[in-house]
Amino acid sequence: MKLTGNLLIGAQEVSATAGTMKALNPATNTEIEPSFAFGGVAQVDRAAQLADDAFDSYNNTSLAERAAFLERIADGLDAIASELAQRISLESGLPVAQLEGEAAKSAIQFRQFATVVRQGRFRQATIDPAQPDRQPRARMDHRLQKIALGPVGIFGASNFPISYSVAGGDTASALAAGCPVILKAHNAHPGGSEMMGRVIQQAVKDAGLHEGVFSLVRGGGNEIGEALVDHPLIKGVTFTGSEVGGMALFRRAQLRPDPIPVFTEMTSVNPTFVLPSALAARGGVIGDGFAERMLVTVGQACLKPAILLAIDGPGYVELKNAMIARVEDMQARTMLTPGINNAYRKNVERQAEAGAQRIAAGGESQGAWDGQSVLFEVDGARMLDDATLSEEVFGPAALLVRVKDVEQFIAIAKQFRGQLCATMQLDQSDHALAARLLPILERRTGRIVVNAFAHPQEVSYASIHGGPFPATSDSRFTSVGMSSIERFLRPVCYQGFPDDLLPEALKHDNPRDLWRVVDGELSKA
Ligand code: NAP
Repeated sequence: MKLTGNLLIGAQEVSATAGTMKALNPATNTEIEPSFAFGGVAQVDRAAQLADDAFDSYNNTSLAERAAFLERIADGLDAIASELAQRISLESGLPVAQLEGEAAKSAIQFRQFATVVRQGRFRQATIDPAQPDRQPRARMDHRLQKIALGPVGIFGASNFPISYSVAGGDTASALAAGCPVILKAHNAHPGGSEMMGRVIQQAVKDAGLHEGVFSLVRGGGNEIGEALVDHPLIKGVTFTGSEVGGMALFRRAQLRPDPIPVFTEMTSVNPTFVLPSALAARGGVIGDGFAERMLVTVGQACLKPAILLAIDGPGYVELKNAMIARVEDMQARTMLTPGINNAYRKNVERQAEAGAQRIAAGGESQGAWDGQSVLFEVDGARMLDDATLSEEVFGPAALLVRVKDVEQFIAIAKQFRGQLCATMQLDQSDHALAARLLPILERRTGRIVVNAFAHPQEVSYASIHGGPFPATSDSRFTSVGMSSIERFLRPVCYQGFPDDLLPEALKHDNPRDLWRVVDGELSKA
């Protein structure tokens, strides 16, 4: 695919209005052609106007039409998967094979959302039929369905440059809900972003939809993202990235004359609790498995298991030695961006300053932006004393916590802030302690895993990739899985409507054969 570096505003190509940039190959520390355009407030405004113009027709597409559109995007992603992976590998330092897997996953997500759309349950059609004879007051016919929020702004993430970026789950779920999307591309992979943007732009055209259903913008500073969050026609925002960036955008949206929801996914250390019986039985296996998952994608994953807690006793030495062996065996690898690499180095120093002891390190960095793997150990008392030890180090570092006893284990569990995920490694005789931990973890995490690790995340109906702050800014929602569509929907109630004016999902004869809640009971009637 030929890259022009232009912004994609509806069906138009727009050249630079605020300077240009080139992608950086972080493995060689050299720039890659071509130049990519930066836009500004005017381009966001044009994209938002188009998105608003597109809203009514797109929100009212039939379920079949919208599902077919999502499948067109999936087909387009499949067609460029190899080329896309190769370009993004240059821009990110990630292996081509890993990126091909991500491209396949993204295409699957669009097909999964096509199924969700066809099923129509996302409408949550709910009917309270009229009760004219009800005493003391008659009830009118009430019918509820969920409709799309409006045009939304989506910030592409840096760390999964396909499945959390332009053609990622946020875009798939927003389009499935019926929301036109303005995508703010991450500058870490501008070429890959353009390729995915062109696939979606082409699918919009081929499906005969209004051009405003999708636009891609890019900017050289905060201005473009701020303009997106501020724009009065934008009705919701999603973001994956740093806590500082996410909260700046979240707060900004609350200061609008009409505050809008901003769903941010920010930071999580995904603690792993190894319970005593499991530790004694298979400490070495658990330590090896943990370190292996921690190092996936150079530790630059929101679900990286970053902190492991185990009570000192039988199996502890085997666990620690297995972690050390895996970390020492790891070559330094290229990290995504200079900024992420610099933050990693700083945060590794922070752990040492906070009293964690460096017990293992992988191969020394060779390239400018390589991340050297590091394993720290700290005792439980120190962990309780210094909350900074519980904060994320984005990159290939982990912390092993040597816990004194069960009470300290529980106390540390209570100290964690909100998490995407927590894990318990346990055996049958650990169940009493697991039952004590469970309510503590439920209050702090979106997902609790037993005898596995947080990463990877399943994309399915029961998936949750969310959790209390600071994992996300709204613990009621998920950014991955089929229910992530709920971020982009809002309920509307139709009271006393004649049948011909009712939306399809709510008509009396249920023409789409949808499951609906009728008088409180699930029904296809
Ligand atoms: P980031 O700095 O938060 O940036 C994410 C996106 O938001 C970028 O497009 C950025 O635009 C934009 N942005 C950030 N702050 C903004 C603001 N105040 N106003 C307007 N736009 C804003 O994240 P990153 O560049 O991907 O990585 C930086 C750090 O974030 C990492 O070191 C890591 O700690 C964390 N991170 C965490 C996760 C996770 O899943 N937990 C994922 C990725 C990153 P510009 O690039 O143009 O500034």
